[in-house]
Formats: sequence, C-alpha cells, structure tokens
Amino acid sequence: MSITPSITSRLPQVGTTIFTVMSQLAKTYDAINLGQGFPDFPMSPQLVEEVAKAMRDGHNQYTHMNGYPLLRERIAEKVNNLYGYPINPETQITITPGGTYAIYTALTSVLQPGDEVIVFEPAYDSYIPNITINGAVPVLIPLTFPDYRIPWDEVRKKITSRTRVIMLNTPHNPTGMIWQEADMRELENIVAGTSIFVLSDEVYEHLIYDAQIHQSVLRYPALRERSFVCFSFGKTYHCTGWKLGYCIAPESMMQEFRKVHQFNSFSCDTPKQVALAEYMLDTNAYLTLGAAVQQKRDYFCKLMQSTPFEYIPSSGSYFACFRYGHFSNEPDREMAIQLTKEHGVATVPVSVFYQDNTDHRVLRFCFAKKESTLEEAVKRLQTFHP
Ligand code: PMP
Ligand code: GLN
Repeated sequence: MSITPSITSRLPQVGTTIFTVMSQLAKTYDAINLGQGFPDFPMSPQLVEEVAKAMRDGHNQYTHMNGYPLLRERIAEKVNNLYGYPINPETQITITPGGTYAIYTALTSVLQPGDEVIVFEPAYDSYIPNITINGAVPVLIPLTFPDYRIPWDEVRKKITSRTRVIMLNTPHNPTGMIWQEADMRELENIVAGTSIFVLSDEVYEHLIYDAQIHQSVLRYPALRERSFVCFSFGKTYHCTGWKLGYCIAPESMMQEFRKVHQFNSFSCDTPKQVALAEYMLDTNAYLTLGAAVQQKRDYFCKLMQSTPFEYIPSSGSYFACFRYGHFSNEPDREMAIQLTKEHGVATVPVSVFYQDNTDHRVLRFCFAKKESTLEEAVKRLQTFHP
C-alpha cells in the first residue's frame, strides 16, 4: 500500500480562485457568465490565419528563451511610439506565458523573506499569494470607496525600511479605476531616493475609455528605471486562452527576471509569437480597441438602468462594478451565488479581492461580451426583484 506524504502547504490560506469557482457555477446552472473576464466575441480571423501560416512555415520549435526576436523588436517600437521610451529589445523585454506569469516572475526575482510589498485593495487575486509564497509580507492599503482612489497619505505612512515593492494596476481590475498623472507624480515622490521597486500591471493598457490617457509607468523616467511592467496579449487581441504576455524592465532587473524565467517556462509558444510580430504592424488593431469596448460598457450600463443595481463608474478594463447595498444587506458572495442559481447570471463578488473580505455589497460584471449576451443577461437580471 502506498502512502502519499502530506504537504505543509506553502499557501495554507488559499482555495480555488474565484474566477474558476464562478465559471464552474455558471456552467452548472447554465448561467450567462459575466464573472470571469474573457470576451465571447471572436478574435481577429487574420491573426488566427497568421498562426496557421506560422505553423505551416515550420515555426514549431523552441524560439529564443527571451521571446521571438522580431516580436520583441515590434514591442520596442510600440513602446517608443506610445510612451516615448526607447527600450532595448535584446535586454529589456521578455515574452512570457501570460501577464500572471510575468507578475509572479517579477516578484520572485526581487523578493526576499520579510520584505514588504504595498498592495492596493481590492487586488487582483494572484498578487498576494505571489508575495507570500516568496516569504514576503503584503502591506494592504484599501482604495477609497466608492470612488476607488489611492489614499496617498496612507501610502506614505505604510512605507518602511523593509518596503521592497509597490504594486499598481491601471486600468484596475476589478473596479475599472485608472491612475491619473497626479497619482504617478505622487508615486514618483514616494519612491525617489529609496530602493523600492515598482511592479505595474498594465494588462488593460488599451482598454481605456472616455478619451482618457493610459498612464503607463513607462512614460515616467523616474519610475521606469525601477519598474517591472507587465502586459498581456490575451487582453489586447481578445485571445485570453493564448496565455501570452510580456514584461519590460531595465536591463539589470530583467537579468534577474530571466534567471527565474529560464528555469520555469524557458520560452513560450513559437507560432503565436511569429503571428503577433506580423499582426502588430497593424497599429489600428490596438489603437481602436478602447473606443470599441467602450461602446460595450456604455450599452451594458444603459441596459442595467432597468435593474436595481447601481453603477460605479469604470474608466477602463473589461469590468464595471455595481452596488446593491441600498436595497439588500445580503453578503456579496451570497448575492453572486443567488444571481447565478436563480437568475442565470454569473458575476464576481468584490469582497474576494480583499484579504479581510471587506464587503461593500458590490459585484463585478464583465461587459466584454456580444451585445446579444449583454441583452440576455440584463433581461434575466430584470427578473430579480429586491
Ligand atoms: N492582471 C490582471 C489585473 C488581470 O485581470 C489579468 C487577466 N487575467 C492578468 C493580470 C493576467 O493576464 P494573463 O491572462 O495574460 O495571464
Ligand atoms: N483576469 C480575469 C478576471 O479577472 C481572469 C483570469 C483568470 O481566470 N485567472 O476575471
């Protein structure tokens, strides 16, 4: 008889991510899934064709461990055009299997046990496990509610000699909040003269609305010299299942990042990188993205006015949050389960993005869906009466 040895968990507090839980629940109850963030409309057929072509052309073996060189060159051109930062594609970009992996790898390259990492809550659910598995300590700062802004005085108070990284995410998941220039200036002032790194999660860089500007840390010389900046092709090209992204950092930081990367995935999917290098020449594909997805946000929010849920303005990402505390005191997890089971619409309860489960009675809806999906979801929500 074999006895499997027991594991002392590296992540004892962690269960299954809410995205999987809600998507599974949506399947079980045949609900429309506005929970997990992924589009239900097709990606570009031309990009699909480019992948097929790359495979037919024989691009089927390992590519360079840091990423297909032409793709890195195209990214460098884009970063220079958009953010005015001339990066070296040889030394400053690494292609990764997704943005999540890039974030984990960046944290793993810099963190030592006992280091502190400033994290704003609500926080994307991978951040804190990525910090604790490295023996570091998350220092949590709640965004203000309901406008979800950065409480800068609080940030200044939480900086210590052990602060190693400040993490930011703009446009922000789950709230759709975006950082403004004034926020970047605050951050610049706080880190000036310190040995603090910045980790900027910018996977929604093009999903930004109302003619606002994406405040990439790459625009700010005093920030980019200490920043890992993480991106996702999945979000930009409506192919979240591809799990391809990249990280940009100064050379000395990227060297450490690559030490971790080379013994983890080593390299990523070759044909998709070849295809993306070709497809990135069409700058319209990402420059028009914000306006196209904004229409979905606007359409969804207009439809939602026929329900009792109250919109909290979203300036970016795939998501909009809605409150319901004015008509119900039900905890948000229960509300999310009830809506899925009884009304056929899955969402994500925002309390899961707080370590202490702060519950403002808010649900996150993904509006990156076909109009018909949004219409059907709202029709179902209209059957909900408080
Ligand atoms: N950060 C945030 C805030 C996200 O919403 C996502 C989306 N999944 C990611 C990182 C990771 O993206 P990827 O699917 O490329 O790993
Ligand atoms: N980023 C997506 C979301 O927030 C999901 C990604 C995932 O399932 N890990 O819903």
